[in-house]
Amino acid sequence: MRRVLLQAAAMLLCAAMLLCGGCGENTESAEQSASTDAAEAVTKDVFAMDTYMTLTAYGDGASDAVDQAVNYIETLDAMLSTGSADSEISKLNETGSAVLSSEAAELFARALEIAEATDGAFHPLLYPIMEAWGFPTHEYRVPDAAELESLLQLTDLDDVTLDADSGLVTFLKEGMKADLGGIAKGYTSSQIMEIFQSCGVTSGMVSLGGNVQVLGAKPDGSDWRIALQNPDETENYLGVLETQDRAVITSGGYERYFEQDGTIYHHIIDAKTGYPAESGLQSVTIVSEDGTLADGLSTALFVMGLDTAKAYWQANSSTFDAIFLTDDDTLYVTAGLKDCFTSSDYDWIVIEEVQ
Ligand code: AMP
Ligand code: MG
Repeated sequence: MRRVLLQAAAMLLCAAMLLCGGCGENTESAEQSASTDAAEAVTKDVFAMDTYMTLTAYGDGASDAVDQAVNYIETLDAMLSTGSADSEISKLNETGSAVLSSEAAELFARALEIAEATDGAFHPLLYPIMEAWGFPTHEYRVPDAAELESLLQLTDLDDVTLDADSGLVTFLKEGMKADLGGIAKGYTSSQIMEIFQSCGVTSGMVSLGGNVQVLGAKPDGSDWRIALQNPDETENYLGVLETQDRAVITSGGYERYFEQDGTIYHHIIDAKTGYPAESGLQSVTIVSEDGTLADGLSTALFVMGLDTAKAYWQANSSTFDAIFLTDDDTLYVTAGLKDCFTSSDYDWIVIEEVQ
């Protein structure tokens, strides 16, 4: 049996947090900083998609923008959540065939596209395997190799069809099930930025369980400062990223896991094996203008491991940047971030473009 060994990981509330003030000096959370930063800031906290979310918008239209975004989060949760029996995805999973709303169908298409681009490292059809491990119900168990082998037969990307015009999704094998959990939060944050913009907001941020997306600059014109949580420690950050108009999305085994007989089993599955990915990485952070892509790739590059992920970035460096923390605590940062990333606790290695 393959086993996943992780260093003892602290339970985290957030993978990334907004900072204000000088580098590493201020550890205020997004909620706290937002309410004191500027009088015109509007902040709301909601719990949806199984996670705590904070939305902040500044200036004219902020109140309307945040209200619309909160309603929209609830709509999306009801559309995509595998945890709610009435969601579009749950109905598809139950029947094996369903006409999705145009929005859900578009996201489904995007998930399939990212799956193809990452050679199945991001894989939206692993729900039967997630169920076998007990992640959806929290009734955790370690499935045996034969069970996983048979469930892997239900995860062939060629066995799903999507008709883009009608939104009809059909699974060709009984028992196939979709899971957009690896992409839903990034999609949500990118759509919230659109809502903010449509309300005239030019400065705002959303944090979905520590995955952050920022719109524009801070109201004073300076960059947002996003702290990346260290998987091993609750207090020290991996580093701080100064940026504007970006999603900063992290995947790590430490975010959700259970322990059995001294072994830790986490929630990011390698579709080639059915077991939690053992890629030598503790976490992957993706920085991109495109929140959906950032979320899909954070999961995918975590599964790929450093060498494959590095090559993937080198081939696609115009669309994203990344920060990798390996199991041996080495931090790698892609070249596009070298002038906006700082770390007081880590030396870091820059991954350069291929000339
Ligand atoms: P994330 O936190 O974005 O990496 O997403 C992890 C979640 O995505 C898991 O809790 C599963 O619901 C789902 N998932 C697990 N493994 C994969 C995978 N290889 N590709 C896509 N989604 C996955
Ligand atoms: Mg993801």
